[in-house]
Amino acid sequence: MSVPRCRWRPHHRLGCDLVADLAGGRALGSLAFSEAGSRSHFWAPVSRARLNGAGVRLNAAKSWVTSAGHADVYIVSTLTADADTVDLFAVPAVTPGVEVAGRWRGMGLRGNASTPMTFDAEVPGSYRLGAAGGGLDLMLQTVLPWFNLGNAAVSVGLSRAAVDAAVRHTSAARLEHLDESLSALPTIRARLARMSIELASTAAYLTQAAGRIAEPREDTMLHVLGVKAAANDAALRITDSAMRVCGGAAFSEHLQIDRYFRDARAGHVMAPTADVLYDFYGRAITGQPLFDSQPSAPAQVPA
Ligand SMILES: Cc1cc2nc3c(=O)[nH]c(=O)nc-3n(C[C@H](O)[C@H](O)[C@H](O)COP(=O)(O)OP(=O)(O)OC[C@H]3O[C@@H](n4cnc5c(N)ncnc54)[C@H](O)[C@@H]3O)c2cc1C
Repeated sequence: MSVPRCRWRPHHRLGCDLVADLAGGRALGSLAFSEAGSRSHFWAPVSRARLNGAGVRLNAAKSWVTSAGHADVYIVSTLTADADTVDLFAVPAVTPGVEVAGRWRGMGLRGNASTPMTFDAEVPGSYRLGAAGGGLDLMLQTVLPWFNLGNAAVSVGLSRAAVDAAVRHTSAARLEHLDESLSALPTIRARLARMSIELASTAAYLTQAAGRIAEPREDTMLHVLGVKAAANDAALRITDSAMRVCGGAAFSEHLQIDRYFRDARAGHVMAPTADVLYDFYGRAITGQPLFDSQPSAPAQVPA
């Protein structure tokens, strides 16, 4: 059943209509964090808001925004007007000064539009999410767990599709002169086995991480950091193996394995990138602060 979408209007009250509409699938939201000046370091916007009467003037160039031009509301990060802390603002798409600033030509994920956007817009102070300067906490405590879990789930889904397609193809493809299938070749079936085992272990980690978010424990944040990196890397390896075992058939587009291969490459570079997550994880298990010098950062990984 399709849910009718509504265009989220500025008069909708934050924390009430917006959340209900997002949760009900009637409105689409998107994160506008990344900036050219801080790249994948999403926690460090370089744009700065200015106070303007009771409102705030946003002036931010965002380098990647998924569903740019299609979302009803954008969650825009910016440095706080008068401090070196971060604020998040929920900016309705209909706000004057909200513009899509490019075209999407990605290697994969071609069904979405992750283009740059500019926000040269006036918004009421009430559109700020949380307390003044509380943006980083919201990013780490609220956005990160759900983003990482969802992103990891996409990687696991792509891995599963690649394993299924590779098993199907190599079982059906025949070597007539040997009277056997491709999957009867020891090298091929051993590679299929490794793909399948890596998929199973990553899916189990994902289930465990989801459980840790549903019922938080001391190591919940470690799972949040680890699961995206592990699932992203597994998807790179598994889709690469699927390309190999299916040979030229995968290189042509009819098996769709080429698409899983291309799409899998996005999760790895979506912030927090897999390599940044390994760094955070390493810091966390050795008791080091998450950030070296971020004035508004918590000293330790939050539980
Ligand atoms: C399909 C897609 C959709 C996206 N959608 C959104 C969106 O909706 N909203 C949004 O805000 N952003 C979005 N992004 C942007 C994304 O989150 C990253 O900010 C962006 O991909 C980073 O690209 P970059 O080349 O600037 O990375 P760079 O920061 O230049 O990184 C280059 C390499 O350096 C590594 N690196 C950087 N810092 C460290 C470190 N401290 N330790 C170890 N390695 C490090 C990275 O892992 C990466 O491998 C999207 C990106 C893609 C590809």
